[in-house]
Amino acid sequence: MSRAFNFSAGPATLPETVLRQARDELLEFPGAGASIVELSHRGPEFMQVAAEAEADLRTLLSIPDDYAVLFLSGGATTQQALIALNFAAPGQVADYVVTGHWGKTALKQVQPYVSAHRAADGEAGGFRDIPPRDDWRLSADAAYVHYTANETIHGVEFRDVPEVGDVPLIADFSSSIASEPLDISKFGMIYAGAQKNLGPVGVSVVIVRRELLQRAGQPRAPILDYAAHLQGESMLNTPPTYNWYLAGLVFKWMLAEGGVAEFARRNARKAAALYAVIDGSGGFYRNEVAAAVRSRMNVPFFLHDEALDAVFLDEAREAGLISLKGHRALGGMRASIYNAMPEAGVQALAAFMGEFQQRHG
Ligand code: PMP
Repeated sequence: MSRAFNFSAGPATLPETVLRQARDELLEFPGAGASIVELSHRGPEFMQVAAEAEADLRTLLSIPDDYAVLFLSGGATTQQALIALNFAAPGQVADYVVTGHWGKTALKQVQPYVSAHRAADGEAGGFRDIPPRDDWRLSADAAYVHYTANETIHGVEFRDVPEVGDVPLIADFSSSIASEPLDISKFGMIYAGAQKNLGPVGVSVVIVRRELLQRAGQPRAPILDYAAHLQGESMLNTPPTYNWYLAGLVFKWMLAEGGVAEFARRNARKAAALYAVIDGSGGFYRNEVAAAVRSRMNVPFFLHDEALDAVFLDEAREAGLISLKGHRALGGMRASIYNAMPEAGVQALAAFMGEFQQRHG
């Protein structure tokens, strides 16, 4: 069987060229006499891989020099907890803008450490929209403001970086990092689990303004300390070397494809094509998110008749389109269309959805 178009939300599809290169190098990393997965993280081969990954990511995302880049294990959820430990005093107020499931998770992770304040909350409206900036109730003395750039489950995405004054802005970019140009200088920190747009699960990227690392934060072990990780070059303990290496290959692939500006164009076309099918279906398919904040990365949609869900998934699989089942919190379908999803995959899905409607409408 050939590779299907895989719409998984994460772990998600990776570029085929990257997987082929990884396969070709699996037994012997060029010149090393062993697989990269078998070599010390402190050996010359992996040190080179790590240095190139950081340099390539800096180029790809135009990361300013006064920002540190960390490659850490623990996933995005662990970073959500570390934010409070590193940047807020015990019990200090931290503002959370909650626009979906992952914003709620981020807030939950810091509740033992800070006074987490829901400065804005889209839950009453079912997370179908982002509360207008004028309605946010930001605290004057907040340690930071946190928001989720793209809500992977609810399909809600900020189209602009919100203005929050002098308080450091921290954002979860797990499901939209590198999908379009971003002015990193507007943030205190952004973070992302790799398993959507950057590579395989198991490594997270943290991009943090160096100055913020001087904050005292809260009592914590060195392994929970971002400044210590920076000093230890993200090798305080054995890092997830294979995941880091694979992410590095994805960075090189993204640069070779034309960088984030090119992906922004492709992602806009892909999202527009899918929403057009949904909106043009006369109610057969439905996406409930306010048009201005619909995600370009994750497109949740519902069939007009739930009884057709299983049929849709079966027939999609037969057509070579997999992992379209929606998150259990919402039901329905979800098409995740990150950078590595080719435009041909989205065109195939759009065509399938049209044909499916004709057969079952
Ligand atoms: N934030 C967002 C936006 C996510 O989509 C996810 C995972 N789907 C997470 C956080 C949690 O990431 P992890 O599983 O790496 O902890």
